[in-house]
Amino acid sequence: MKLLIAEDDKASRMMLAAVTSQWNYDSIVVEDGEAAWEVMQQDEPPCLLLLDWEMPGMTGVEVCQKVRANNSDNPPYILLLTARTETADIVEGLQQGANDYIPKPFNAAELQVRLEVGTRMLNLQSKLTLALKDLQFHATYDALTEILNRRAVLEAMNKEIARVQRQKSSLYIGMCDIDHFKKINDTYGHLVGDEVLKEVVKRMKTALRSFDLIGRYGGEEFLVICNATDNKPSTAFERICKFVTASPIKANGESIPVSISCGVTKLDVDLEHSIDELSQQLLGTADDALYEAKEAGRNRVIFKP
Ligand code: GH3
Ligand code: MG
Ligand code: MG
Ligand code: MG
Repeated sequence: MKLLIAEDDKASRMMLAAVTSQWNYDSIVVEDGEAAWEVMQQDEPPCLLLLDWEMPGMTGVEVCQKVRANNSDNPPYILLLTARTETADIVEGLQQGANDYIPKPFNAAELQVRLEVGTRMLNLQSKLTLALKDLQFHATYDALTEILNRRAVLEAMNKEIARVQRQKSSLYIGMCDIDHFKKINDTYGHLVGDEVLKEVVKRMKTALRSFDLIGRYGGEEFLVICNATDNKPSTAFERICKFVTASPIKANGESIPVSISCGVTKLDVDLEHSIDELSQQLLGTADDALYEAKEAGRNRVIFKP
């Protein structure tokens, strides 16, 4: 564990460096607040800080305030070293963002356990941060295909609709549904079906441009949002059909031909309707177009203005 020690008194500084390295901390030792603040601004700064309160120039408490003002996702654990033992001082130090304090002259055994408490808190904090990131990922992305989930892609669509209104641009919305997917499941099993879904998504992404959006709208149905940079609504969707059918999908030793149908519609600036109304209209029209594509024999794009 990286530990930053800031202490202006030389004897005390050397002592702290010696004991903490004995306890296996990877200590960075500086002699004033400015130097400590500099260390904190480097890449991957230490997470455990032991700061003397009284130092010439920037004090330990001032370093504390600056670090806290940074509002990092991964806030460090800060221990103040201080000869001040008045309650009012302690309160002030903790109020300025310190997690704990050690009275000076320090007792080595006490310092050791307080640093251990800090380390435990930091470990807990990083576990929580990871768990939060994981939750955020799963709230936004579909676990199987790792594209946006239904809620997230609908949210993204609403943002794009708002942008069309603002920038007087236009966009295409496509509902794309794998053909006879139930038969693939029935013939090869659900797990192979999952592999096919993943490969179809991979191919669809290859057919799209980096600024197009794709999300899993339902089981084997995907919502695609394309900025209309040209006047041919079907280009991107024709590419999707072509890429999906390009070659049979290999899964579990099987070679499975797959195709997809797309129902597409377009949004131009429309200041008469709300975003919600436009969103419902677009989804409805794309769905109707998809139904027509299925009726007309599948593996095709149908555009409905
Ligand atoms: P169509 O061409 O008319 O779209 O026919 P279809 O068979 O694709 O459509 P249908 O709606 O009858 O069947 C869709 C199937 O997709 C049924 C469902 O079990 C399957 N499915 C939905 N989600 C998943 C999934 O995550 N994994 C697998 N393996 N199957 C899924
Ligand atoms: Mg001092
Ligand atoms: Mg289907
Ligand atoms: Mg379907």
